[in-house]
Amino acid sequence: MGKIGIDEGISEKLRAWYEINKRSMPWRLTQEPYKIWLSEVILQQTQVVQGTPYFEKFISEFPTLKDLAEASEDKVLKLWQGLGYYSRARNLLYTARFIHFELMGVFPKTYFELLKLKGVGEYTAAAIASISYNEPVAVVDGNVIRVISRLFKIDEPFNSGKGKKLFNEAAYQILDKNQPAQHNQAMMELGSLVCRPQNPDCNNCPLAEHCLALKDKVVLNYPVKLKKTSSKKLYFNFVVPVLDDRKTLITKRTGNDIWKNMYTFPLYASEEEIKEMKFIPTIREDFGDFEVMKVSKIKHILSHRVIHATFYIIALKESGQSKKNNIFEVEINRLVEFYSLPRLITKFMESKDVSIYFIK
Ligand code: SF4
Repeated sequence: MGKIGIDEGISEKLRAWYEINKRSMPWRLTQEPYKIWLSEVILQQTQVVQGTPYFEKFISEFPTLKDLAEASEDKVLKLWQGLGYYSRARNLLYTARFIHFELMGVFPKTYFELLKLKGVGEYTAAAIASISYNEPVAVVDGNVIRVISRLFKIDEPFNSGKGKKLFNEAAYQILDKNQPAQHNQAMMELGSLVCRPQNPDCNNCPLAEHCLALKDKVVLNYPVKLKKTSSKKLYFNFVVPVLDDRKTLITKRTGNDIWKNMYTFPLYASEEEIKEMKFIPTIREDFGDFEVMKVSKIKHILSHRVIHATFYIIALKESGQSKKNNIFEVEINRLVEFYSLPRLITKFMESKDVSIYFIK
């Protein structure tokens, strides 16, 4: 990798392009750290188009950090529903409370102070420090990695230890230390709009004359990535009791896992598949006598896990009592509207099996 610095005009061209081509986004109208932080946390989960309504919902419910800090976890998880990675929503709330109650509402102002906050990693800390406080730190997200890997033809996988260091150094090399906010946002926007993963628009790229991958016609070979180990399989068996008055039984997840404090149907998880014949006696033990109405299967893919979910829709012969702890009755309509549900559960709720058996 050659040393390419701002003296070659990369940042200047980039920022000039950004001024003309940047998209209008609500968080670009402010430098307030609370809003920049919120937007970055949401955008780690989704694309701008899908993320914008979430940002607007959060800002409308919680216009200030204080409002978020004083919110209930149930409410925050409900607003977050659909974005996945619920630990991020919990960290968001934890950190809002920490800043409001422990730091007297004063948002940390430097990259290293920001990094100490729970749920704030290098990327988010760099974004807040540069955009809100103009600190000269380079943001390195997926878009920036793609641009840099192609510009400099970096053959080191970006997800290796050595690669990470190289990308950080390269990003810092081309950063205009006087205008880090504009520079960082321009890099991310270029990666998103022009230097796209599959069909980069090199003809309209302001950095084309600097781009080594374009020069050698190997743009799509970059970025290089280390292959991941295969995903872990999990088998989740849910019991979905159908009670009178369109009611069912649910449970609140209290363990320290990705669904902590969210709601699901009673769940039996295992690392091996449990065949129906073996599982039925367990249900009987916990819920008494019942009739199986339908067994519905859904495959749900997360970043490091594949969940094979089986939903046993059952009609209980007696009232909705269960020997399992932490189980309670809820109307099926209220479940969708008021409870924070993992995506896997909402997928199931959208299936026709639910409407057939719960809506008579
Ligand atoms: S020239 Fe093409 S590959 Fe190179 S940075 Fe621009 S869009 Fe990306």
